[in-house]
Amino acid sequence: MKPIIGIPATPKQPIPQLANNAVIYSPQNYIDAVTQAGGIAVLLNPNDPEDLPELMDVCAGFLLTGGQDVTPLFYGEEPHVKLGTTNYQRDLFEISLTKAAIAAHKPLLGICRGMQVINVALGGTLWQDIGENTAAFVKHQQYPTSWTLPTHSVSIAPDSPLAFLGESTLTNSFHHQALRDLAPAWHAIAHSADGVIEATYSAKNNVLGVQWHPEGQLKCSPEQLGIFKWLVNQSKAQ
Ligand code: MN
Repeated sequence: MKPIIGIPATPKQPIPQLANNAVIYSPQNYIDAVTQAGGIAVLLNPNDPEDLPELMDVCAGFLLTGGQDVTPLFYGEEPHVKLGTTNYQRDLFEISLTKAAIAAHKPLLGICRGMQVINVALGGTLWQDIGENTAAFVKHQQYPTSWTLPTHSVSIAPDSPLAFLGESTLTNSFHHQALRDLAPAWHAIAHSADGVIEATYSAKNNVLGVQWHPEGQLKCSPEQLGIFKWLVNQSKAQ
């Protein structure tokens, strides 16, 4: 039986192309990757944390996607001048979902912002802009270079869920924020050459996070589908 993977949708302000209706959406690449890995992707309304107990019953696992910056108030900081767009409501929903998923022993995969949200939910902090981390010298925001192409290398810890990618791999990179203080619950399992945390894992909580966008790399790097297979296989095991 295919496991149902819940994906909180991204809220968007009213847009003229839809007669000024507000919309929620998720990029197609995430849906395709979950489908290819053998799961059924279902979008979740990101505005109703009170429905999370029921969603824990319906979904076998969860995927937190990329998007806006995380509101720094959630890790005890005021907004830095280089902070990008934030969405307090989305943060609240996804932080609540992270806590609920861990309490319900549901597997959780966080991609880019998703990994950052999980770190904050578990008590960690972020660099509001990587430029504040003076040790970071790698270009981590490759836009407008194609999502399908890798631009920097990442070293991977052996005996981690990402070991199937080898001791190092090449990834795309679309982030200007990064993990700063790692939440106590999980471990860094991949780094870029400048020491930025590129992947994290908690065996105890069944939570995996990657800072890059594997869903965008599948065309040129099909082995990256293994990250979504991890989520689907863990979800099947529930
Ligand atoms: Mn990067």
